[in-house]
Amino acid sequence: MIDKQIVNMGKTSLIQLNPVTISRMLEIAPNAFLLSFPRSFEFEAGQVIGVGLSKFDDARIYSIASGTKEDQIDILFDIKAEGYLTPKLASFKAGDTLFVSEPFGSFHGSENTAWWIASGTGIAPYRSMLRSGFGGGKWVIHGSRTEASFYFADEFSNAFGHHYVRCLSQKNIPSDAMPDKQIFKGRVTQFLETFDILQKELQYFLCGSAEMVIECRELLLEKKVPYGNIMAEVYF
Ligand SMILES: Cc1cc2nc3c(=O)[nH]c(=O)nc-3n(C[C@H](O)[C@H](O)[C@H](O)COP(=O)(O)OP(=O)(O)OC[C@H]3O[C@@H](n4cnc5c(N)ncnc54)[C@H](O)[C@@H]3O)c2cc1C
Repeated sequence: MIDKQIVNMGKTSLIQLNPVTISRMLEIAPNAFLLSFPRSFEFEAGQVIGVGLSKFDDARIYSIASGTKEDQIDILFDIKAEGYLTPKLASFKAGDTLFVSEPFGSFHGSENTAWWIASGTGIAPYRSMLRSGFGGGKWVIHGSRTEASFYFADEFSNAFGHHYVRCLSQKNIPSDAMPDKQIFKGRVTQFLETFDILQKELQYFLCGSAEMVIECRELLLEKKVPYGNIMAEVYF
């Protein structure tokens, strides 16, 4: 839930970008990177920052993936092959300079009992919420096309046990490919469909692709979850 006035299709041109020095660059899955730089600002778990290659760039927006008290800011991104920023960003390394904004956005973590639902890199703000102390009473549902793209699976698995569910939407998965893991074969919406009763008084956070957010919101509304209990962050 970010200010639509400063965001146009995931790009921002009105926010100020300041230089930071990259401290770490990890390829945590094929074509997916965790980029870190020293933290110089306060933020709320779930917020985003603008990122550019120069202070004059139309910044792209990324959820902060680290905790509010950690020394480093982490962001998670995957390469969009035809994109402007991410193919270049993927070649950056520790010591390089990047331009980032102050944090903003109102997709905030809370201590309420809630479901955190994500597709792809949309898992990033929940890692920040978890690392900021908001992990109690949560279910985490993560949808992805490939098993390698369940980013931070160990961290979520350790924190949430069977309340962490991975939904693998890739077609034609060999039956022996997933021996014992808690992986649901199907889309996030198919997993949610399996629940006859989703508790209406809980909060439901949705983060990731527009397709996933729209489909999940419709499904939750059909199941009589009040509109006000559904928080959404769409990655354009
Ligand atoms: C609130 C918010 C939070 C986000 N958080 C994250 C995050 O944590 N991690 C993450 O990975 N991403 C996140 N995103 C998405 C991110 O901001 C970028 O959109 C993404 O990384 C792509 O950037 P890019 O410059 O590489 O691609 P862009 O140049 O922005 O292009 C994006 C896509 O659009 C296509 N495209 C570009 N120009 C055109 C055109 N003229 N016509 C048709 N198609 C075109 C490209 O092929 C590409 O696939 C977030 C977005 C929002 C709005």
